[in-house]
Parts: sequence; structure tokens; C-alpha cells
Amino acid sequence: MKCPACTLPLTQLLIEDVEIDVCHGGCGGLWFDNFELGKFDEPHELSAAEELLLVPTDLSVEVDYQAKRRCPKCDVPMMRQFCSPLRRTQVDVCPGCGGNWLDVGELTQVRAEFREKAARAAAKEQPVINKHLRWFVAAD
Ligand SMILES: [Zn+2]
Ligand SMILES: [Zn+2]
Repeated sequence: MKCPACTLPLTQLLIEDVEIDVCHGGCGGLWFDNFELGKFDEPHELSAAEELLLVPTDLSVEVDYQAKRRCPKCDVPMMRQFCSPLRRTQVDVCPGCGGNWLDVGELTQVRAEFREKAARAAAKEQPVINKHLRWFVAAD
């Protein structure tokens, strides 16, 4: 398969039995088949996924990030969609095979959003009353 962003051939990377096509030494983009992205997007999942965040890239490779991408598998135009918990990161989704294309850095953003969401949820769960109790006890 060819990279939908810079047209270099994609390299297959096997991580915990999941095959991911990576633009190794090119733009650093990542191709996930349908449902594969869900195995890597949350920070607590597969620490081996860190490898995907460190794909060697060639900074001289030019990528038009505004251009419409075509699916490397079915050659149909992909759509930009939000696929992250805080809806800040858009990735390319193929309407045909359901695969996802992530430009370099986008997986890091998605994982950071999961982390931020979890932190927010934890902050909410912190019972406020505890603070008052502690204060009350300290003042006694
Ligand atoms: Zn590329
Ligand atoms: Zn496709």
C-alpha cells in the first residue's frame, strides 16, 4: 500500500498481533484497519503502542494536510472525522473499509485527550465535602 499523504510505500509493523501500516521514514502517518485504532487510542492500552508515536520521519517529505486523502486500500476519498473523546482531533476515515489514517502527531493528540478526560472525571469524583472535613478536623 502507498501512503495516502506522501505516496511512499507503507511499512507493516506488527504490534501485539495487530498489523499497522506505517509511513516509516516518510511522513510518519499511520494506517489502521477497521477497529484497529480502538486498540491503541487510550493511554492505558498496549504500552507497545508508544512505538507508533516514535515512527522515524523524514522532515523533508512534503505533505499537504489540507488535501483530501484517498484510502490506501480501496482508493475512495476519505472523510475527516472526530474520533477522540474531547472532539478536538480529526482523522481520515474510509467510508468503504472503515480504516483510519492518522497523520503524524494525531495519535498522540487522541491519547492525550483520553488522559485529559480521565483526569477531569477523577477531579469531579473527588468529594468536595472531604476538604471541609479535613479543615474542620485541623481547626479543632
Ligand atoms: Zn507518508
Ligand atoms: Zn478503504
